[in-house]
Amino acid sequence: MKDTPEFVSKETWDKVLNYIARSDEETPYLLIDKDVVRDKVSRIGKGIRNSKLFYAVKANPDENVLGYINSLGAGFEIASEGELRILAKFGVEPERIITSNPMKTYKFLQEAVDYGVNMFSYDSIAEVEKMAKYAPGADVYVRIAVPNEGSEWPLSKKFGVEVEEAVGLLKAAKESGLNPIGITFHVGSQCTNVYNWNSALEKAREVYQSAEASGIKLKMVDIGGGYPIKYLKNVAEIETIEEKIDKAVREKFSDDVEIFIEPGRAVIGDAGIFVSTVTGKAVRGDENWLYIDVGVFNGLMESIGGIKYNYVVGSKNDPKLWTIAGPSCDSMDVIDREVELPEPEPGNMILLPSTGAYTISYASEFNGFSIPRTILI
Ligand SMILES: *Cc1c(COP(=O)(O)O)cnc(C)c1O
Repeated sequence: MKDTPEFVSKETWDKVLNYIARSDEETPYLLIDKDVVRDKVSRIGKGIRNSKLFYAVKANPDENVLGYINSLGAGFEIASEGELRILAKFGVEPERIITSNPMKTYKFLQEAVDYGVNMFSYDSIAEVEKMAKYAPGADVYVRIAVPNEGSEWPLSKKFGVEVEEAVGLLKAAKESGLNPIGITFHVGSQCTNVYNWNSALEKAREVYQSAEASGIKLKMVDIGGGYPIKYLKNVAEIETIEEKIDKAVREKFSDDVEIFIEPGRAVIGDAGIFVSTVTGKAVRGDENWLYIDVGVFNGLMESIGGIKYNYVVGSKNDPKLWTIAGPSCDSMDVIDREVELPEPEPGNMILLPSTGAYTISYASEFNGFSIPRTILI
């Protein structure tokens, strides 16, 4: 494990190996390098004028992670009372919290309003009526549907409306006594197509101008999340993506428009390294199978949707192709296929970089395997 793997800094790798050497923590567990988180929070938004960062809590809602991000002064994007309650423990001011879930449960909406949260997204008339009743006078922003091409985790079809409907919804909000302030979208998570933001911002501009023509002056555009991280491939750097976004923002909107960014994966994803143990191996037909103690149900759920991780072992044997499976007895619990790796032995450690986002937050105790601990280093 001495050699630093691709896309991991030497500083992070040294910290990880040091932690493992000194700790008797049982695997599997997730290490989070605070320095990477701090670097990401300071870089994201720097290249976009008049912008504010709201960390999307669902990417990793671990209490220590949220406490650390809070100490960096970032805002938060939340969708549930569970997420709100963790932030409440740290006394996060309601002005630093937004909710971009366009379909809020009654319970969450009520708790959020009681706490003082005042910024909510929506994309339907039913939600206008709900917010007018439970969050009268709140600042609201409409979610539009935008292209998700090139995103490894597309989401667009679940939420969002087209331009004309969005303008109608902004008017309806105003007529219901709400305060329409802006527009939001999500280009899809792990978005490796930098042009998606441009298409999305062009659509947002249409909504912004039509709204203005109807007497609604908007003051905010929330560009959602989607910034990609490096798993197996190189991706555009934050600065490259933001240069394009900033250019589009300056072309399309007036100078006083505020830009909100809601990164999840890009803040916490490559700060995380899963530490796991090889539990067994077998040859089945012509396939080599490797079983490890973290799998689809206790941390690596995104592998089912096509996210591919890097696996690091200490072995110096000749590489072989492996099917890698998790610890449960379910046939869905296969993480990856045709992974080239030097042959490890049962009991050896196997490390997975770039696993800080959408791992622990998706984990269940299926089949009796505990949810792995998250440890900040
Ligand atoms: C999940 C989510 C995000 C974060 O997306 P990433 O791709 O992880 O950056 C941001 N905004 C909303 C509304 C989300 O649902």
